[in-house]
Amino acid sequence: MKQVTDYFGCLVFNDKVMKSRLSSDVYKKLKKTINDGKELDISVANSVALAMKDWAIENGATHYTHWFQPMTGVTAEKHDSFISPESDGTIIMEFKGKELIKGEPDASSFPSGGLRATCEARGYTAWDPTSYAFIKDKCLCIPTAFCSYGGEALDKKTPLLKSMQALNKQALRILKLFGISATSVKTTVGPEQEYFLIDKDMYELRKDLIYTGRTLFGAMAPKGQELDDHYFGSIKTRVQEFMNDLNQELWELGILAKTEHNEVAPAQHELAPIFATTNIAADHNQITMEVMQRIAKKHNLVCLLHEKPFKGVNGSGKHNNWSLSTNTGINLLEPGDTPAENAQFLLFLVSVIKAVDEYQDLLRISVASASNDFRLGANEAPPAIISIFLGSDLQAVIDSIESGTPLKTNGKTFLKIGADVLPPLPKDTTDRNRTSPFAFTGNKFEFRALGSSDSISCANIMLNTAVAEELKIFADKLEKAKDFNQELHDLIRETIINHKRIIFNGNGYDDSWVAEAEKRGLLNLKSTPEALQYYLHDKNIKLFTTHEIYTLNEINARYEIGQEHYSKVVNIEALTCLDMLNKDYLPAISKYTKNLAETINLKKSLKVNDSYEYKLLNKITNGLNAAYDKKLELEDTLSKAKAISDCTKLSMYYREKILPLMEELRNIIDGIELDVDSKSWPVPSYGDLLYSVK
Ligand code: ADP
Ligand code: MG
Repeated sequence: MKQVTDYFGCLVFNDKVMKSRLSSDVYKKLKKTINDGKELDISVANSVALAMKDWAIENGATHYTHWFQPMTGVTAEKHDSFISPESDGTIIMEFKGKELIKGEPDASSFPSGGLRATCEARGYTAWDPTSYAFIKDKCLCIPTAFCSYGGEALDKKTPLLKSMQALNKQALRILKLFGISATSVKTTVGPEQEYFLIDKDMYELRKDLIYTGRTLFGAMAPKGQELDDHYFGSIKTRVQEFMNDLNQELWELGILAKTEHNEVAPAQHELAPIFATTNIAADHNQITMEVMQRIAKKHNLVCLLHEKPFKGVNGSGKHNNWSLSTNTGINLLEPGDTPAENAQFLLFLVSVIKAVDEYQDLLRISVASASNDFRLGANEAPPAIISIFLGSDLQAVIDSIESGTPLKTNGKTFLKIGADVLPPLPKDTTDRNRTSPFAFTGNKFEFRALGSSDSISCANIMLNTAVAEELKIFADKLEKAKDFNQELHDLIRETIINHKRIIFNGNGYDDSWVAEAEKRGLLNLKSTPEALQYYLHDKNIKLFTTHEIYTLNEINARYEIGQEHYSKVVNIEALTCLDMLNKDYLPAISKYTKNLAETINLKKSLKVNDSYEYKLLNKITNGLNAAYDKKLELEDTLSKAKAISDCTKLSMYYREKILPLMEELRNIIDGIELDVDSKSWPVPSYGDLLYSVK
């Protein structure tokens, strides 16, 4: 049998392959580009391209593509074969350096938020050599960034790389003050991915799942998740077979798939990889989502990545475990053992606390989508209010610094930053708080508000940039310090005092937290249209432009794309809702009432008691009429959306006027579903969808 160690990364043009296939001179130059961002000259690129092509062809590839992440949220690829004609009618397989480093896809069909006039359709993709090329479906995929010809980013990778550079620059300034001689700091991320698996035959009978990824109708099955029997439960054979295939393919692609288990809701599962450098983690997570969907089909399953495919059971999220590490192997969120390490840890810790407090709006935006709006604040995922959980041990340390009173632990007292040692902080804290959106978990922060279908790029762009800004402010101050330890102590203390409002160790699902958060002045941005508006606040524009992550134009573009995308998603949902009503639900229900009416007539003629049919007919007919009236109202309300041209007004209209009508319609239809013979119901029920995979 093939061993994992033999095939792990076999479809990746990784360091080992580069070393064996490139001359040592070319290898060294490429490594310089990878490690230090040095520009690659064309002769080196030609050699790399040649080696890459030969390797890819040996591994079955016929095509190559620049693989990128436009602002649609999914990845994009345009395959070109390696073939090149010869004069004698034969072909050779060719791939040049310039094709490796730059591609020119027609950018006109990707969202640009007005950055690219339609007449200026060109955009270009540029190789990101820090993320390895790989082979997927006989195609050599080259991870790239995607920009307009004016140089504006049209993707999610470019700003992510820039945010990592910004953080690197500021973190190195801080480390220098502590005498640490690292030459680079990178952020690391381990994204835990939740998903649903349902039977493909059932899926194909549900237009709502096909068009929108979620069920727009459906009465809850008699059993949901109340018995807590699915979480970590034994994995069903068909699901396990899917997971085995998935793991194998991910491992071949060099993705560190590590943990798999059943999640809380029926038919819900999770996959967690071992963490990696953020841009690689982002690429890997995109590939993982794609491979999951493809492998599912092989098993006649469908993998749903929507945040809320089913009403009444938990939706799916993604936990973004985030930390910073030096090239010398130090995790900067690891408390360490010495006074100096502890002081450094506390400074990085408070930089995150300050960043999350000052840029709560941006973190909220980074997880905002029409689909994730159904999860956040619905008591199954963190609230829409951003706060930080530290846990009781670290909280005690923070309190002691703030109040200047000694901390008693294990007989030792903690007094002064830079001079004393912190008590050991347990890593796997038993008081883990699952209700917090942003939790410290021993040596990293876990941002838990991401949606399952989100690209992790947005969250990490915000996080990296906000923390870079705080580190910059700290470095500006500490670089001028006369008494370093004293000023460090004061800075940490002052930061705690000014930003402790963002720390909340209690139950985030509790209603009292909403009131308390409001008292503290924390934001509670309940929906995407509301949250996005904060993008354009001066402090945020200043943040992005100062650190050269986005230009003002790029921010405006992202804002518009976000609002437009929201409106489009809800519009598709509303149209699907109407389609299902007109074509499926209303005719099926009407037919069922006809059956009942005929039965009543028959019973009447036989002088038999028809009270069951009679009462039911009345009840269902009332529901049917109410549904029809509500449907007319939805059609009318939807048609008025066409007159709204402003993207903010339009998204608010969809949020406030369209979604509530869809919900009301759903409630009527779901109520009728409970009364109707299952054979007469036009689509599979929740029971069919959630429990048919054995
Ligand atoms: P949970 O208990 O929340 O399910 P785990 O302890 O299994 O989580 O870890 C979750 C994720 O955190 C994994 O993907 C793991 O690789 C990642 N992780 C661990 N250390 C770091 C780090 N230093 N930086 C980023 N992610 C990390
Ligand atoms: Mg987790």
